[in-house]
Amino acid sequence: MAEENATATENKKRRRRHIVLTSHPSGRNKTSVPIQWGAKTAQARGPIIGSTTDPDKRNAIGTHSGSYSIYLALAIASGALDPEHRPDLTNTRPTTIIGPHQQWFNPKSIVSLDPFGHQIAEVFSEELKAGYDIRPSIAITKAQMQLPELQFAIKEGTLKPDGKVLLESGDIIITKAAIEPVWYLPGIAERFGVELSELRRILFEHTGGMFPELVTRPDLNVLLPPIGGVTLYLFGDLETIPDPTVPLTVRVHDECNGSDVFGSDICTCRPYLVYGITSCVETAQKGGAGVIAYFRKEGRALGEVTKFLVYNARKRQEGGDTAKNYFERTECVAGVQDVRFQELMPDVLHWLGITRIQEFVSMSNMKYDAVVRSGISIDKRVTIPDDMIPPDAQVEMQAKKAAGYFTDGRIPDSVELRSTRGRHWEDKTDKTNKTNKTE
Ligand SMILES: [Zn+2]
Repeated sequence: MAEENATATENKKRRRRHIVLTSHPSGRNKTSVPIQWGAKTAQARGPIIGSTTDPDKRNAIGTHSGSYSIYLALAIASGALDPEHRPDLTNTRPTTIIGPHQQWFNPKSIVSLDPFGHQIAEVFSEELKAGYDIRPSIAITKAQMQLPELQFAIKEGTLKPDGKVLLESGDIIITKAAIEPVWYLPGIAERFGVELSELRRILFEHTGGMFPELVTRPDLNVLLPPIGGVTLYLFGDLETIPDPTVPLTVRVHDECNGSDVFGSDICTCRPYLVYGITSCVETAQKGGAGVIAYFRKEGRALGEVTKFLVYNARKRQEGGDTAKNYFERTECVAGVQDVRFQELMPDVLHWLGITRIQEFVSMSNMKYDAVVRSGISIDKRVTIPDDMIPPDAQVEMQAKKAAGYFTDGRIPDSVELRSTRGRHWEDKTDKTNKTNKTE
């Protein structure tokens, strides 16, 4: 304990005594390490420097680690973390080579992540040696995955282990990549059809003035936003992912912690995720590959507090929770139905070098349109089978079909929308008879 206190005291001593205002750099208004987004080589593009150990070399607004940067700041405040600490990257290199792909060098194809984020140690080795504090924004590793649903499918005989992608034990062999957001602001502005200065001002104002450089440093065009990133789960022969002639299955999934992890049955998120993974495994078994892109965009990127408020508003409204009023309730609470902005989502698919998707597991038109608009073709859209939809999630499902989401089934009429009701809190759904007692 005494030793810990000594470290903390030492760490605290190393904290700066004067305030460094990143908004007004010493003696100049231009970064010494310019970034040329979309340049032909990593060297010409330049490293993204968001670390705070050397303020003069910073060329990005914000800091690394997304929302976790706040915890790191707390760790420095408490003395647990040395403010001068630099990561030791020995043996951290990716387990799989990804890229480079042609989309990496098109400034319009990728605007929300750093395509070289996983290659820092190799492409910027000279700069690292020269003392530049460059940090990875992407990490790639290998893992085995165990899902009860897939183990059940093996027992039922609907999925067959192959010893390569899916083991006898039910374990799935995967590669996964964690990606932090790195926003090239001129590209983001263009995607949304808004003036760059307008975007910068609004981002500044509506984060409570969190990043003054948004309005004071026009020379800094890269923002490391304090938001969640995306995790890729990759199945099968990864070298085939960019090959348009080899089958590829993709599911783009936006986080829903309540369903994905805890099995809450008001929505179809976990069933969709499981169905997406199953489809990826099947395609991988046929010699192709599968991609699950898991975005941290909880509750349509409105957050869980808004989401739970909406659940209550849905259940308590006059006439109960009906498919007819499904979307309206979210808008009443949040002022908007959805802020996931799928416009930025295809970046991660371009990072993988994808040009064609044979099977796209989703009923969302927003996701489909964004992918196709970005220049990736989709052969076939796939929705989950009806028997995978939990009873209370019929409200969401019917509302989505009526609102124009993709379905190869029937579109519900207004009578059905009114009669598709969710469970009330007092009701208990007994999964064994599959009926919803309020109906
Ligand atoms: Zn959900």
